[in-house]
Amino acid sequence: MDEATRAKRYHRTGRILGVAGFVVDLALLLFLMFSGWSVALRAFAEHLVSRPSLSLLIYLALFGLIFEVPGIPLAYVKGYWIEHRYGLSNLTFTGWIKDELKGMAVGGALAALGMEFIYWTMRRWAAHWWIISAAAFMAFFILLANVAPVLLFPIFFKFKPVEDSNLTERLLELTRRAKTRVRGVFEWKLSEKTKKANAALVGLGNTRRIILSDTLLEKFDADEVEAVLAHELGHHVHHHVFRGMVVQTLMTFLGFYLANACLLHWGAALGFQGLADYANLPLLILVGTGLSVILLPGVNVHSRWLERQADAYAIEAIPNRSAFITSMEKLAELNLAERQPPAWIEFIFHSHPSIKKRIAFAERAR
Ligand SMILES: [Zn+2]
Repeated sequence: MDEATRAKRYHRTGRILGVAGFVVDLALLLFLMFSGWSVALRAFAEHLVSRPSLSLLIYLALFGLIFEVPGIPLAYVKGYWIEHRYGLSNLTFTGWIKDELKGMAVGGALAALGMEFIYWTMRRWAAHWWIISAAAFMAFFILLANVAPVLLFPIFFKFKPVEDSNLTERLLELTRRAKTRVRGVFEWKLSEKTKKANAALVGLGNTRRIILSDTLLEKFDADEVEAVLAHELGHHVHHHVFRGMVVQTLMTFLGFYLANACLLHWGAALGFQGLADYANLPLLILVGTGLSVILLPGVNVHSRWLERQADAYAIEAIPNRSAFITSMEKLAELNLAERQPPAWIEFIFHSHPSIKKRIAFAERAR
């Protein structure tokens, strides 16, 4: 099988599994909501403890269990089996289990914190909870973007400063030309988990740093690493982080506003005892999920446009433009990218223009 066919099959399988997972989640939410199970779970939790914040925690634990257990086989096929079948993974089975457990612990803790906060605001400020919650969520997202490189990433990955001083000096010079301040260039040990390569400019303020996967450093020469970083800096030069925050803020407020409207409108008919009855959680999640599905193509159109801007900056910023093209070729090869996915798939699902388009763009610019 040639590379293009393998890439096509790999991505098609991934999409089918993604849609299947989405359908299972949707079915579970609808079942919990309409079968009366959610109300029964709430009644059970309240029977155990009367304090609302504690009974909510019990409800969330049971809800999480019902949600996670049916998803385990799918998560295994998606996260482990397929990656190994296509020779993309370096992860051992125990390594995979460890990562899953860590992900559930971190994700579960953050989700529980968020839900406790939402229902606390509902109990206190029934009329304005959605404004307060949306504002608090935004503040929390920004805080998370700041602390993620030092608190969250190290839970899953190892990092160390890049030792090649020639390379770091070149990269830091590039960041100075882009007029941004970066606190360090780090090697991101991705090879324990995957053969894929990645690079990013992460963090906010004092945690801002360049991270380059060891898989990338191994296969890319200095010119190509520079091209990859120049793209990341293009996002900075065009203020994409700020733009992203504005878009995220609008979506968060819209989401909470719609959630409030739907909970008020359908709550009583579905047997929920008022807004702060957390048995309505499935409906709350359905509203959020529905909104993100509707907005997905629009968000991706916007994202591809920003990626194109970052590419344009990168091509201007580096002395050796053909390095941009070879870096794209290598990324496509290492990550088994579909160089030109079907147009409608690219339109709906892809946050980046296809590799073929990005290379054609660079060639035109040259
Ligand atoms: Zn980008």
